[in-house]
Amino acid sequence: MTPSPYWNPRTETLPRADLEALQLRKLRDLVDWTHAAAPWQSARLRGAGIGSSEELRSMDDVRRIPFLERSEWMASQIEDPPYGALLAAPQEAAMRYHTTSGTSGSRPLAVLDGPKDWEWIAEMWCYAFWAAEVRAPDSVFFAFSYGTFVGFWGAHYACEKLGCRVLPGGNMTTEGRVRMIADTGATVVCSTPTYALRMAQEAHARGIDLAGSDVRVLVLSGEPAGSIPATKALIEEQWGAKAVDTAGMTEVGTVVMFECIHQPGGPHIIEDHFIEEVVDPVTLEPVGYDELGERVVTSFGRGFIPVLRYRTRDMVVRVPAERCSCGRTFDVYDGGIRGRVDDMKVVRGTNVYPRAIEEIVRRNVDDLEEFQIHLYTEAGIRDEIEVLIEVGGGSRASEDELAELGRQLSDAHEGLRFGVRMAEAGSLPRFELKAKRLNDERKVWGSEGERKAM
Ligand SMILES: [Zn+2]
Repeated sequence: MTPSPYWNPRTETLPRADLEALQLRKLRDLVDWTHAAAPWQSARLRGAGIGSSEELRSMDDVRRIPFLERSEWMASQIEDPPYGALLAAPQEAAMRYHTTSGTSGSRPLAVLDGPKDWEWIAEMWCYAFWAAEVRAPDSVFFAFSYGTFVGFWGAHYACEKLGCRVLPGGNMTTEGRVRMIADTGATVVCSTPTYALRMAQEAHARGIDLAGSDVRVLVLSGEPAGSIPATKALIEEQWGAKAVDTAGMTEVGTVVMFECIHQPGGPHIIEDHFIEEVVDPVTLEPVGYDELGERVVTSFGRGFIPVLRYRTRDMVVRVPAERCSCGRTFDVYDGGIRGRVDDMKVVRGTNVYPRAIEEIVRRNVDDLEEFQIHLYTEAGIRDEIEVLIEVGGGSRASEDELAELGRQLSDAHEGLRFGVRMAEAGSLPRFELKAKRLNDERKVWGSEGERKAM
């Protein structure tokens, strides 16, 4: 018998009405448990008039639950370190400590999870690996540092659960990782999109043929780029493998969405374990299909921390499940995570998204090693934007190529002028975890530094 293409054949193909009924049932259980076990969240619910799950009669009622902001979570953590008042179980019952990655420049959130949570965390990743056609006896290499950042930890356990062989590539150089992938005949590689490209560069420099290796699938996570078409195409070409996008977050402990092997252009939401809403980040009103908005997540699985309507700051465009031909009824985030609410920059009145720039740069520059978006203030008054390009092997892009890239960037941004210049070989930062390619050095008039200078 051919195995099912779905990890959970019943829930992944539930008609939408049944899926929503299941979500409502789980939401009510979550609210009852929160009242029983988590005083901090319980007080917030009571404050919003939700004294019990009886108050929630339809899925629309989820909107009566107050949003949870990262800043509130952090404030509680600072007031009552190290975890804040959000825990729904005693610390002694936890088996693991993890933190957010801290790459956004802010202080990380610290979380605890127990044995049941970890079973669930791995289960969520199983949805993703199964949909990517990862099965025993695949051998899966993790280009991941295995630190306090939760990252691929759950994915590691999921692969063990699936009966795959796991190759934990923590604490290794890029060269060491690439050699291990080639030497062991790994068939699946897990990494960030940026690091998948970095490994391909390293392999090329060392004469290792990744496209000719046994690697069949790359499971990408940790950055929005896994669904940027030009980036994904480049990764697939350099590795000679299919790449699928996933996204999760430490605040819920695991992956929330996964792209199936049909590659509909974005990941499916694991809707039997999460409620995902999309709202306007300013008005906080819900937005419809095909509209850009901010993800808000409610998690049914985390047993240590009730997560109700958490504002993720991730920008997404939700489309109906039918966008994909795989038969799942889970809706899709077209283009994956489109960036962060805070990513958007305004340069001389024009909105600039790093994601759109990445797409254009990767499409136009051959042998790109790294790039950086640099915002600065010219003559103390005028905002300027330039893109710095580093290409491989000490070669240079021609002036014509740079000018053409500048033209394309400008055309895509209402005529905004973009500088484009070459950076010294090796001068731009390299990334293993979350790439940070936007360098905003603009002076804000009236800021502390500016006043001193005047
Ligand atoms: Zn699909």
